[in-house]
Amino acid sequence: MAVLTKYILMYPLDEEHSLAINSLTSAMDIIDQETRSKIEDMQSGIKNIESNEDEELYQQLMSRGYLFENAQMEKDTINRYKLVHQELAKRKIITNFTICPTMGCNLRCTYCFESDDQHINYNLMTDTQLDTIFKYISETLENSKEERIRLKGDTPATINVFGGEPLLKTNYPVISRILKFAEANGILVKIITNATTIQPYLGLFERYVKLLHLQITVDGNKEIHDVRRIRADGSGSFDQICRNINRVLDLGIKVALRINVDKSNIKSLRELEAVIKSNQWDQNPLFYPYASPVLDFCGVGEDILTEHELLDTLLSERLYGNEEGFIKGIVSPSIGFLSFFFDSKNQMKPWKLDYCEATSGSNFGFSPDGNITTCLTYAGKGKHTIGTFDENGVRLNEEDTAKWFDRSVFRLEKCQDCKYAFLCGGGCAVAAIERNQDMDDVVCSDIASTIEKYVFHIKRTILNQ
Ligand code: SF4
Ligand code: SF4
Repeated sequence: MAVLTKYILMYPLDEEHSLAINSLTSAMDIIDQETRSKIEDMQSGIKNIESNEDEELYQQLMSRGYLFENAQMEKDTINRYKLVHQELAKRKIITNFTICPTMGCNLRCTYCFESDDQHINYNLMTDTQLDTIFKYISETLENSKEERIRLKGDTPATINVFGGEPLLKTNYPVISRILKFAEANGILVKIITNATTIQPYLGLFERYVKLLHLQITVDGNKEIHDVRRIRADGSGSFDQICRNINRVLDLGIKVALRINVDKSNIKSLRELEAVIKSNQWDQNPLFYPYASPVLDFCGVGEDILTEHELLDTLLSERLYGNEEGFIKGIVSPSIGFLSFFFDSKNQMKPWKLDYCEATSGSNFGFSPDGNITTCLTYAGKGKHTIGTFDENGVRLNEEDTAKWFDRSVFRLEKCQDCKYAFLCGGGCAVAAIERNQDMDDVVCSDIASTIEKYVFHIKRTILNQ
């Protein structure tokens, strides 16, 4: 007997039309109200699914993968996807490596996920540790060279430099070695910095302009930024960061301006826009401002914005998603995926079978305590590691690595019957660990409401297309 797949999502576009998404096959169709009602009747069992009831609809639903001849055929399709996913995961090419020179930091941002113990831990990555990391990166890239070029063209690998604050003055020898190694091996370097201590590095950066990219955070105008991103002595950091952004842009280095958004600063983003305009950063092609929601893995912070709330506000206020919106991107797992999914330029619609780079196997983070983590939330904390490294080399623990890298919606029990599974990826592993003490006991992502908001805001575009 024919079965309607459970992976159907439907959203109103106007009074007469709805958007149907088949999240199993990634098909998207505009349907009229009559068709929507018939599908809903089939879903609730009011209407018989067999072809003799409505031959034309039956054939259309069959051809678009909404209908399967029997339940086994749907299961077989899912199993085929699972095999493809496993095969691709085996051939996964690592092109992202993160090095934390130290976990210590000179700021005490109010929403930071690092503990106070970490903030004052200024242990620096040693030369021997760096030698091991460089050897590991070189070997990994060399071993995957052919496959990498075949799958990714000549897209270079990236070393992310994170912390703590990677540009503390004492870290200079480490940063200098990383840049030298990266240049010699054709690797890009992205430094995630609070930009308060950049000045001693400007001479060094000048030599590596082509491979460098800085991510710098500014959370609002001076008044707002200075109560969120404070120094250890309680003073603000806004003026110095703005001066340093200008210095770095003047050198010709790309700057991604990260704006961490929650309820306490979302209303003031226009004021940040004014700061950007007054500095003429918006005129500079090297400058890319993007928003990201402040995360709270325990889910208790009252200022936290969900992804759909963030998306809704930024689009409603025209701060994002149109020519004049000053925010050019949103970095968060569900919104990032949906921007790609709904982009009409992307004819191949992707699935999101795992949630983020921590579970997709594409990031390795090395911290000065000699541990390797895949999610940087745990960098330098000595827990949820996937391996260790020292003068004798890198040792990955197979079981721990598999816990992270095999975490996909195919493994997660709660996701088996979820119609959003292939667009969600199974939610944040850290949220599951912190709230449920088990990375497989999922905390649902905000995908359901985020799709609703996304479609609501782009419904005109969808209808026009
Ligand atoms: S995490 Fe929740 S929303 Fe995401 S696929 Fe699993 S059950 Fe569905
Ligand atoms: S596991 Fe969660 S915290 Fe870690 S990178 Fe993924 S989404 Fe971010």
